Amino acid sequence: MTIAGPSTIESLVEAVAQSAPAPLAIAGGGTSRPRPADAAHHPCAVLDTRAVAGITAYDPAECVVTVLAGTPVQHLADALAAHGQYLPWDPPIAGADATVGGMIATGVSGPGRHRYGGVRDFVIGARVVDGRGRLVASGGQVVKNAAGFLLHHALVGSGGRLGVIADVSLKVFPRPEATRTIVVRGDSLAAALEAHERLRLANLDLDALDLDGPSATVSARLAGAADALDARAARTIAAAGHAVETHTGDAEAQHWHTHSIAWWPREGATVKVPVTPSRLASILAVLAPLGPCRASAGGAVVYLHSAQPLEAVGAVLLAHHLTGAVVRGAEAGRRLGVQPSPAFADRVRATLDPDGRFR
Ligand SMILES: Cc1cc2nc3c(=O)[nH]c(=O)nc-3n(C[C@H](O)[C@H](O)[C@H](O)COP(=O)(O)OP(=O)(O)OC[C@H]3O[C@@H](n4cnc5c(N)ncnc54)[C@H](O)[C@@H]3O)c2cc1C
Repeated sequence: MTIAGPSTIESLVEAVAQSAPAPLAIAGGGTSRPRPADAAHHPCAVLDTRAVAGITAYDPAECVVTVLAGTPVQHLADALAAHGQYLPWDPPIAGADATVGGMIATGVSGPGRHRYGGVRDFVIGARVVDGRGRLVASGGQVVKNAAGFLLHHALVGSGGRLGVIADVSLKVFPRPEATRTIVVRGDSLAAALEAHERLRLANLDLDALDLDGPSATVSARLAGAADALDARAARTIAAAGHAVETHTGDAEAQHWHTHSIAWWPREGATVKVPVTPSRLASILAVLAPLGPCRASAGGAVVYLHSAQPLEAVGAVLLAHHLTGAVVRGAEAGRRLGVQPSPAFADRVRATLDPDGRFR
């Protein structure tokens, strides 16, 4: 069954309360966890959040926006762009349908996470409908907030298992005046890793630093004042120590677009593995046999695309003391490998969803 159409927070609250105690699967645009092909025979009711959409408050002078969870991320990005602002962790390019609620619940950030932090660092408040149909507020709509438990941070990466995100308040940044991307194409993964390490350790204030395993390509993005970029690019090229290409404008946008993990096949699973940048080479050696890998945020996270059974991926992660989360595929939200102590997460879940409704 699909519970379609709640278009306001009040009707969302009502939909959750009235469907109790039935289990619920929360759905946004389906770019991370595909909506069931046959909702009528799905074991739980599917709560479609896409109609709860719109920007409810935006103060460009304060760099703060509040947005309903079903709003397409692209719509939000367009509204910010009209005021010269943007989402610094890089808006999802996983599909035009991706919603703000899905973006928070999936908790994946793009290359821009390298300089400013990921989506969690930008969420300053949220309201969530819990399993009993109560609207719970956390944080606020201003950057300086009261102390206390940051439930709105716990929602990031929650995979729809804590409650239905109704709206979120985000801080946003002015778009940099100019950007430039330096690309190193290694003749082997080892050469690319060497260049990546040199760029990571040099004091270059990079906006993004990614390494694509299969193509042995390192991409380093600079952002800031236009008149400073020539000198900064020269320092970056010197640090790379290899022949490089430099991209600006449309070619630069196309480069990041082409190299996005969003274009990995939908079959199989995309798994996010947090790593220690200094261990990147050894971790890629372990993960590469499972499928193509991309290191993002200066080597702080590796995305692995694998067609292997998730049990096999989990066993490799466990054997190397790594943890992972499936971020795309039918089992999006599933944890693999080393499981962090569940005590805290279990307590939060027991409070918000005592009847275990959210699947
Ligand atoms: C391959 C790939 C590349 C990506 N690249 C980037 C990137 O470059 N930058 C970036 O920022 N992000 C990126 N993302 C993450 C992206 O933000 C999410 O995939 C997307 O926004 C999910 O939105 P959706 O509406 O399609 O969610 P869905 O796929 O519908 O749902 C995803 C999960 O969120 C839960 N959920 C959805 N809505 C809600 C809600 N209102 N309340 C509670 N739970 C909810 C669902 O239950 C499900 O577990 C990428 C993701 C993938 C898979």
